Amino acid sequence: MVRAHSRVSTPGRLRAAVAAAAARAAAVRPELSAALPRLARVDTLHALGEQVSGCTRCRLAQGRTQVVFGVGNPHADLMLVGEAPGFHEDKQGLPFVGQAGKLLDKLLAGIGLDRSHVYIANVLKCRPPGNRDPQPDEIESCEPHLFRQIELIEPRVVATLGNFATKLLSGKPTGITRVHGVEQETTIGGSSVLLYPLYHPAAALYTPKMLEVLQQDFARIPELMGRAADVPEPEPISALAAEPAVQLGLF
Ligand code: URA
Repeated sequence: MVRAHSRVSTPGRLRAAVAAAAARAAAVRPELSAALPRLARVDTLHALGEQVSGCTRCRLAQGRTQVVFGVGNPHADLMLVGEAPGFHEDKQGLPFVGQAGKLLDKLLAGIGLDRSHVYIANVLKCRPPGNRDPQPDEIESCEPHLFRQIELIEPRVVATLGNFATKLLSGKPTGITRVHGVEQETTIGGSSVLLYPLYHPAAALYTPKMLEVLQQDFARIPELMGRAADVPEPEPISALAAEPAVQLGLF
């Protein structure tokens, strides 16, 4: 009888070993992420999720049911970044599963996308008690996780939902009312992304005027994704060539 594992070809195993080694290299040297093959970046993202699931960097670890790391397509061209998990997200371990999430799904459907096309994460990975605003020290503790996610996913467009994500990722204090719908080129994790601030869906839930604006802003996302796609990608550097120490440890 042919055992299932014997069907894995030698090149297949080699590729898996290379991807795993490259993922280990990037875990030690995050600046190498850009050089990682796609497969290795998925592995590294998965490993990051495992690691963050036990995070105790801030007080929110004490009150959470679980960490809400993020969900979606690890190769997504569009990443959406919200504020923090709420009650339902904390229970289910997934971002945007409450009322705001249902609206987000509708907005995505309106531009021909669903959750399988995008990656969704939050500034904070743990629920603040009573859904209060994130505190500056909590954001500071949690932000490395988000920056690393963006580095590994390498989306072309990052849509920030609401004030907290917008201020963090733009690095500017300007509020969402002034900057929503205005895209800006920025660099996150060594790659250039188009940052696109939007109103938070929760804010639009009960304010029809805001919902209208959010829908209009959403309607520009396909154009922005197409525009970002026109920017030539830098030549990928082989992760192995970039990290000789890991290459030696491979075999
Ligand atoms: N759910 C989330 O996951 N994030 C938010 O910002 C709001 C609701």
